[in-house]
Amino acid sequence: EVPTESGSGRRRLGVMGGTFDPIHHGHLVAASEVAALFHLDEVVFVPTGQPWQKSHKAVSPAEDRYLMTVIATASNPQFSVSRIDIDRPGPTYTIDTLRDLHSHNADSDLFFITGADALSQILGWRDATELFSLSHFIGVTRPGHDLTDDGLPEGKVSLVEVPALAISSTDCRARVAKGDPVWYLVPDGVVRYIDKRQLYRGE
Ligand code: ATP
Ligand code: MG
Repeated sequence: EVPTESGSGRRRLGVMGGTFDPIHHGHLVAASEVAALFHLDEVVFVPTGQPWQKSHKAVSPAEDRYLMTVIATASNPQFSVSRIDIDRPGPTYTIDTLRDLHSHNADSDLFFITGADALSQILGWRDATELFSLSHFIGVTRPGHDLTDDGLPEGKVSLVEVPALAISSTDCRARVAKGDPVWYLVPDGVVRYIDKRQLYRGE
């Protein structure tokens, strides 16, 4: 059964992990939509730790990604940001994120929100059995990625359609590097922060 109903009396905490380099409106719409559909009390955004390399290029400093995430979520009383992954040494594994959040939120049921692209790798994740014991998983639609539950464990994963926003951090970075605007793809404060810190210029 899909746990969309509040009624157990336990807090319902959404977890939105990501590199957030930069955070954009696709992330925010996905979190907002899932929060409404699943009656979540809060969604905590968790920027990944630093030594993570995407392809050969290192990501922006953790502190910049953390601050952009704070700026983007500050006005929403249901959204918060956690430093647990950026303060933990070494690469980020979802199992560690969920173990830490679980131990710090014993009163809450966790709902890990992830894009269809990442969801398709869920079964390949290490410690899949423990992952599913710690959290429910919610896969959200993302343009260009099919949403299918083939092979996913029954009852542990929900697939939801969110308003499709064809926005990616990769595209935002490329636009900044070319001098193209990212207004309205990311929140206004994030546009200003990227400019102030001169992020993504040399790419
Ligand atoms: P990059 O292009 O650098 O990979 P990204 O846009 O995918 O960045 P991430 O920080 O990697 O952003 O994404 C965090 C989570 O948000 C992932 O689970 C991803 O699938 C999801 N996500 C990213 N963009 C969207 C979007 N436009 N709609 C729905 N989900 C999204
Ligand atoms: Mg991505």
